[in-house]
Amino acid sequence: MEEQFSALVARAREAAAAYYNGSDLLMTDAEYDALIEQIAAAKAEHPDWDDEGVLERVAAGAATGDVQHSSMMLSLAKVKTEADLLAFIRSIPAPQDINVEPKMDGLAISAKYVAGLLTQVVTRGDGSAGEDVTAQAQKIAGLPTRLSEPANTEVRGEVFMTDADFEIANRNRTAAGKPAFANPRNATAGTLRAQGRTYEAPMSFACYEALYDNAPDSYLARLAIASTLGIQTINDLFRMKPMPPLDAVREIERLRPTLGFPIDGAVLKVNSEMLRRQLGETSHSPRWAVAFKYAADTATTRLLDIELAIGRTGRLSLTAILEPVYVGGTTISRATLHHPQFVLDADLRIGDEVYVYRAGDVIPRVTTPVLSARPEGLPRWTPPETCPQCGEPLEKEGLIWRCLSPECSVAGRIRYFAGRDVMDIDGLDVVTAEALAESGMVNSIADLYNLTREQIANLPVGTTASGQPRLLGQKTTDRILSSLAEKTKTQPFARVITSLGIRNVGRSMGRRLAERFRNMNALRSATVEELASVEGIGPTKAERIKAGLTQMELVINRLIQAGVHTEIEEAAPVDSSLPLAGKKVCVTGAVPGMTRWEADHAIAQLGGTPTDSVTKTTNLLVIGDKPGSKVEKAEKYGVPTMTADEFLALLH
Ligand SMILES: [Zn+2]
Repeated sequence: MEEQFSALVARAREAAAAYYNGSDLLMTDAEYDALIEQIAAAKAEHPDWDDEGVLERVAAGAATGDVQHSSMMLSLAKVKTEADLLAFIRSIPAPQDINVEPKMDGLAISAKYVAGLLTQVVTRGDGSAGEDVTAQAQKIAGLPTRLSEPANTEVRGEVFMTDADFEIANRNRTAAGKPAFANPRNATAGTLRAQGRTYEAPMSFACYEALYDNAPDSYLARLAIASTLGIQTINDLFRMKPMPPLDAVREIERLRPTLGFPIDGAVLKVNSEMLRRQLGETSHSPRWAVAFKYAADTATTRLLDIELAIGRTGRLSLTAILEPVYVGGTTISRATLHHPQFVLDADLRIGDEVYVYRAGDVIPRVTTPVLSARPEGLPRWTPPETCPQCGEPLEKEGLIWRCLSPECSVAGRIRYFAGRDVMDIDGLDVVTAEALAESGMVNSIADLYNLTREQIANLPVGTTASGQPRLLGQKTTDRILSSLAEKTKTQPFARVITSLGIRNVGRSMGRRLAERFRNMNALRSATVEELASVEGIGPTKAERIKAGLTQMELVINRLIQAGVHTEIEEAAPVDSSLPLAGKKVCVTGAVPGMTRWEADHAIAQLGGTPTDSVTKTTNLLVIGDKPGSKVEKAEKYGVPTMTADEFLALLH
């Protein structure tokens, strides 16, 4: 029996050590609490058994240090039921004097200021003595190293990470090659006690007690003084509307997901110092305060699968499929995994036991695997190379992986439609296509023609350095609108067919279909057999193309209404006296003063046929500014060339 007891104590010590190292937790808080309860129960029956200080440390919440506190930093008695909470409220002679505030979920510290300068920061430790962390506490938001006045004070409160702090800390930590923190509390404890970390992990402070000479009797008045000295108090962070204590506890729990910082409960404390003294304390905790615990925010469960999908913006999204687990007051079975690099950095593997965190964030997240529980030989997760939906290679841009196939997403469809080889809409790049899809204003390519100038100009396409949304702006809007109004309506019928983004119907297939069926109505009413008779289309492709055309029926009607070409252009007899009559002409580089589209039009005006590439049959290459590899090709095939200036001279 005593041996078993020692084993439990050893486990608790190990878990506490892991907790304060800020890396791989050995158990969740709930499991830890259960373990401690077990030890406490055994100790009550056998007071002579050695718990190696585990029980006192738990009461204090941290490893001991050697710096004595000026007065005991008692931990609060915890209650879990509303009945116990009501019993506490009834035990207070002046219940209207009870103050309710969120219970911060970080690490308790005490900070001393002498003549307005921060001189010492100490963890709570066992309540009577803690560890000196002054060196690590120099950059904590809300705990200034210099006060606004040369005051002497000792403040107590919680060092914690806001949701934003936690994001940054985890990003920096994984970038430094370390596993992600399991939750903000563990991250704070680890960061505050670590020496010489190489990465930044921002932290914040909230004061919940302040001691001065001649301090006012009211707790709230003492906090107000700290606040004017430049210290962030719990009241600065969150101000409760006046309401009965029990309602306030429920209200804080309701607001918990929106606070932006982690809490694990509510604290009820008497405001008046005189009343506090009158009520006194037990050996473990004051009688004038109590902590009500909310549901645990961290749990462990099994990662069953990683689901891949392409959203309407074309971005690859990853979802963890989890064995259902109760966390943060609800049961979850799915959680976001951000992006592939996150899974790789955290080294999450399918089949792993993982930590799930849900609190300050309404979206539950998987943070890190429980390495000690990893089954042997579990293979690493391999990121996809191709789109899970269409099988095309994914485009990777930093952390964002996309599939821009027109069939996979709205953004892909827009981007394809706008592409240079298709409708050639100036200014409509990938980011803009994504923003249009995201906005919900464009669900099909036909919706592009309904956009107003204002809608396009106010489209957010990223963020500025100061974190404000960056808007698309007037100049790009003008380019997009004029391309839509003019250029898309002069593109040949073949390109209109291609612009529909039907699988297997690229540029050359668009041309073949245009030549075979001549107009949109004939194409739309073509049977599968007729489609299959076109060169390069077998029965399978014909089925697919037919289905694609049927699916795009309404979009095609709206494109026709918008005024795109719906029949093949009959070649007008070329005036043989024109300078480029009957010639296939290609342009490389920029012709000064002309867009590519205008240059192609000029070629047509001069009697030539614009082409996109140089082949043996090309008759002329116009060389503009910053020409490309076409110059070498022209040389190879012996194609005559002309400078941009010579070309422009032909127009006069
Ligand atoms: Zn795809």
